[in-house]
Amino acid sequence: MDIDYYELLEISRDADKQSIKKAYRKLALEFHPDRNQGDANAEAKFKLINEAYEVLSDDEKRAIYDRYGRDGLKNSGGFGGFEDFDLGDIFSSFFGGGFGSSSKKSSTQDSYKANLAVMLNLSFKEAIFGCKKTVDFSYKSSCKACKGSGSKDGALTTCHQCKGKGQVGVSRGFMTFVQTCPECLGKGQIIKEKCTQCKGKGHEELKESVEVQVPEGIDEGMSLRVSGRGNVLKDGSRGDLLVRIEVANDEFFVRDGQDVYIEFPIFFTQVALGEKIKVPTLRSHAFLQLPLGAKSGDRFVLENEGIKDLHSQRRGRQIVQIDIKFPQRINEEQKDLLQRLNKSFGINEEGLNEEQKGFFDKLTEWFKG
Ligand SMILES: [Zn+2]
Ligand SMILES: [Zn+2]
Repeated sequence: MDIDYYELLEISRDADKQSIKKAYRKLALEFHPDRNQGDANAEAKFKLINEAYEVLSDDEKRAIYDRYGRDGLKNSGGFGGFEDFDLGDIFSSFFGGGFGSSSKKSSTQDSYKANLAVMLNLSFKEAIFGCKKTVDFSYKSSCKACKGSGSKDGALTTCHQCKGKGQVGVSRGFMTFVQTCPECLGKGQIIKEKCTQCKGKGHEELKESVEVQVPEGIDEGMSLRVSGRGNVLKDGSRGDLLVRIEVANDEFFVRDGQDVYIEFPIFFTQVALGEKIKVPTLRSHAFLQLPLGAKSGDRFVLENEGIKDLHSQRRGRQIVQIDIKFPQRINEEQKDLLQRLNKSFGINEEGLNEEQKGFFDKLTEWFKG
């Protein structure tokens, strides 16, 4: 099944970021599981809308998608993070948490997750060849003074907005929706007096840095897991740090999975002669035998000159796309040489070769008919 993200979000292919975001918000609200409880179709659509938004709101992913479609993103690991994809999280970042979760949270639950995700931006070369990187990040640690409750002495009082129910009704036109209480976030209880240590947040933000070894061949959207460096929960346990990789585009090479593409200029005489030419590769250079009759845009495959696969350790291919260049100006000597070449290929005084003469002969019949 081929999914068109633009059709899905009901936008044009040249839509700007603002329109993409607007379209996403509208549809995400419409198909959000909280509003379509038990409707599997709506849930599937909601997931697809999120997938489309994740891709189209990211310039690099959008460029890959426009060029190679959804498959291109799979190859390049663009969907690496989708298993960890949390519907509540992305939604609350847009809507301030109002529709976040339909399940009632108990007051003993942690208000954040143990695992923590951070971004790491790499250059193209760093990703291709691997590197060592220091990642600076801040994590949450449950406040010891209030045991993570955010309340001084742990005292709580019934939420005045929902009267302890954790949910409130909101009307839009003639419809009434039940949603999580924005005041107590569904807990039904609120803090009586804020903890002075954490100012009522229930946790502290702490800074830390960790050195990571980025393996050769890592790609956009993949994550590196650093165990035990995530958030600290109320029970003192600590989650993992997930370092999500972003890779910048390169000036010369374009990546597609383990394959790498380069466009290389070839002078027309080199093609005419079917020369063996030197072309740049990721690691150095290689030689390419041009066949007679090669055209601009033709692609040639160099095996094992691509990017190393993280799992199999095997290298992909390098694909050289040739761009045939013609001279913009020629001198007298070159003009003379080319005219002699013309003659040797049988181009007559009318400026026609055999193939072109054949055309005119056939067209004589055509004009008559
Ligand atoms: Zn506290
Ligand atoms: Zn409430």
